[in-house]
Parts: sequence; structure tokens; C-alpha cells
Amino acid sequence: MNQQRKNTRPHGGKPSGGTKPSGPAKGGTVDRRQKKKKASTLDPKLFVKKAKPTGQAGFRTEKSFQDISLDSRLLSNILHKGYQTLTTIQDQSILPLLDGRDMMAISKTGSGKTAAFLIPIIEHALKDPRNYTALVVTPTRELALQIENEFKSLTAGLHLYSATFIGGTNINSDYKQLERKLQVIVGTPGRLLDLSDRKLLKLNQVNTLVLDEFDRMLDMGFVNDVKKLVNLIGRRDQTLLFSATLEPAQKQLIASLLHNPIEVIVENAGGTNENIEQQTVHVPEGADKFGMLAAMIKSPDMEKVILFAETKRLADRLAKKLNQAGVTAGQIHGDKSQNFRVKMIEEFKKGNIRVLVATDVAARGIDVADVSHVINYQLPMTMDAYIHRIGRTGRAGKVGHAITFVD
Ligand code: ADP
Ligand code: MG
Repeated sequence: MNQQRKNTRPHGGKPSGGTKPSGPAKGGTVDRRQKKKKASTLDPKLFVKKAKPTGQAGFRTEKSFQDISLDSRLLSNILHKGYQTLTTIQDQSILPLLDGRDMMAISKTGSGKTAAFLIPIIEHALKDPRNYTALVVTPTRELALQIENEFKSLTAGLHLYSATFIGGTNINSDYKQLERKLQVIVGTPGRLLDLSDRKLLKLNQVNTLVLDEFDRMLDMGFVNDVKKLVNLIGRRDQTLLFSATLEPAQKQLIASLLHNPIEVIVENAGGTNENIEQQTVHVPEGADKFGMLAAMIKSPDMEKVILFAETKRLADRLAKKLNQAGVTAGQIHGDKSQNFRVKMIEEFKKGNIRVLVATDVAARGIDVADVSHVINYQLPMTMDAYIHRIGRTGRAGKVGHAITFVD
């Protein structure tokens, strides 16, 4: 453990000190009782850690995509995306998945899990496009769209088809998409079940089921829908579970989904990404917390910031106040329409807004290149939530920064 004991200010380097840790340092997740409480009981010391940048070397292996036998057109699409060597998780999962094995894979945020499951899926689809369907289920709409985008870029010119079925969109347009044979369907559980209820989506034809961010998919918020989906799918060739964190309490449920699986746990998975510099900022009693935030964000090295807020209402308020303070900001959370959310992420990607204010739910799995800073305006409730939040920066081997406010 390379945790600094003192809290440091991200700028000026002046230690602010004075925070009282609320309990013994604990790794991993907190227990359920803590989850119910309003205020986080996590020890702020957990959020201070020096980056140990591994750079591209730590992110990628020596193995190049040419070394594995892939369809030449798929290979050229992979290279066209700028992927040359496999990441560790890709190296450990692609071959067994090509062999048709079930898998549970745990690997850090930003380590290339999407391509790790999509590349074998594309190979299977190319072998038998008429009879192959993969279903990728995700906890958020944005993540579903992002996965379909990755699929599209990997399959350019290959005559494979995909669709994304998510809430907040007009279901009539889903009907049209279902008229053609789809090799890959990506979606969120509610809409997928809805389409299945309407007898439009034939879940029993699914060959490969992927649960991305599976610990979230199997937690209370989603597990009943996921169980329904799994029952409707019935017999399938392959089941794949991918995430950056593992919830030990889900062990039995995981076992019930997988048949003779391979477990891939990339070293140090479940911990935070080594490429992220983690700091806390102490907010003295009576201090103007928002003022501190605004002053910090005005610093020019804060190029692209995701700011996490615990509630939707706070996210709205922070975005509004930042704009009033002259910082371009937008927000994504569950109460915003899908169009609005997609547009905000686009604006953020393009750099038209510098700060994206988000809730945990909306930001799971999102990959925006070059997010320089993740700021937690409040302590996250669980260590896993923290890992996923700060994992929006320091992606693909780059260095990122995480700053957590401690009241
Ligand atoms: P995860 O799901 O593990 O959080 P993603 O699949 O979203 O990570 O990938 C993180 C980033 O790394 C993406 O921008 C992706 O394009 C990039 N990436 C994935 N695989 C490679 C690779 N082999 N070489 C270079 N970049 C890659
Ligand atoms: Mg992912």
C-alpha cells in the first residue's frame, strides 16, 4: 500500500491536514449496513494514493493482434482503430472465448474489456452470421451505446448488424431494427424485457450472453430483471461476465449463470488503477465548499473533468452554479432524457463543456478519452463506487487525477 497519510491540496501542494479518519482503513467493499446510511463512512485515507504510471507498457502486453488468428478483415479494423498490442485482459480472455468457454473476468477500469469480449463475438458471428446472436446487457444506456459503437468500428465492412435497445427512446424505432437479422444486440434490461414481452425480441435465440459491469447487473437494482432475461434466453452456448470489481456476496449467483467457466482475474484488479493520482481536499467547517470547487476547476490543467455528485438534484445545482461561475458544465443523471444525456456526453467529448457533472448510476463504464480529472464532491458510499468513478480517468495507460472532497 502506498497511501499517503496526509491530505494534500491538489494545487499549491500545501497540506490541509486536520481530517479525522472515521474508522480503520478497509479495502474492498463496505458491508450492507453502511450502504443504507446517508453519509459515507469510508475512511478518507483510502482516497489518497500516488500514481505509479505504468504507461502503455503496463496497459498493453507484447502480443500483437497479428499473433492471434483472427479474420483478416477484423484484424485490419482492429489495427485501424490504433490497437496494436493486446491489453492484459484481452490477452487472457480472447483465446478461451474463441474456444467457446464461459468466463468471469475482472480487470481494472480502462483496461480494454469491451474489445476483450467483442472480438471473440465478432469471430463467432463471422463463422455463422445467420445463426449467431450475442446479447450484451449493460446497466446504463450510455454504456450500451458505447459498446455498440465499438462493435460498429470493429465490424466496418463486415456485413454484421447490431442494434441498441434502451429506455428513454421511442420503442417503435426498435421494431424496425428487429426486422433484420442482428448478430449483436446491446441493451438495458427493462427495454429488452419489454421487447421480449411484445414478442418482438426472441431471447431464446441468443447464443452468447454478456453481462458487462456484471456486479452492478447482479445487485438489487437489476438482478430480478437479469434473472428474467436469463430464464427467457434459456440454453445458450456462452455466458460472459465482465467488470472491474467483484461483489463476494454474488458468488452463488455468478456460479449459477456460468457453466465450467474460466475465471480471469487480472492482477490488482478490484483495486484502483495505478495510473491515477489520488488526493483528498479537506473542507474546513464553515468553508465555502462550492467556492473551493470553482477555484480549483478554473485551473487550466483541469482540461476535462467529471464531477460526481451523490444526488440528481445536487448534480443539477452544481452544473448550474458552475456555468454561472463561468465554467462550462453539463450534467447527466437518470432524470434527464436520453437525448439530453447523449448530447451532453457528445459536448463533453468535443470539449464544448469542460465539466460533466454525473451521478454514479449514469457514469458506469463510460469511456471518454483524456478525462484529466475526476472530482468527488462528496465521499462515495462504497469503495466499489469509488473505483468505478475514478476509473473514468487514467484510461488506456494514461495518467489521470482523482480528487475527493472530505468535509
Ligand atoms: P474497460 O471496459 O476495461 O473500462 P474499455 O473497453 O472502455 O475499458 O477501453 C478503454 C480504452 O482503451 C478505450 O478507449 C479503448 O478504445 C482503448 N483500448 C482498448 N483496447 C486497446 C488496445 N488493445 N490498444 C489500445 N487501446 C485500446
Ligand atoms: Mg467497460
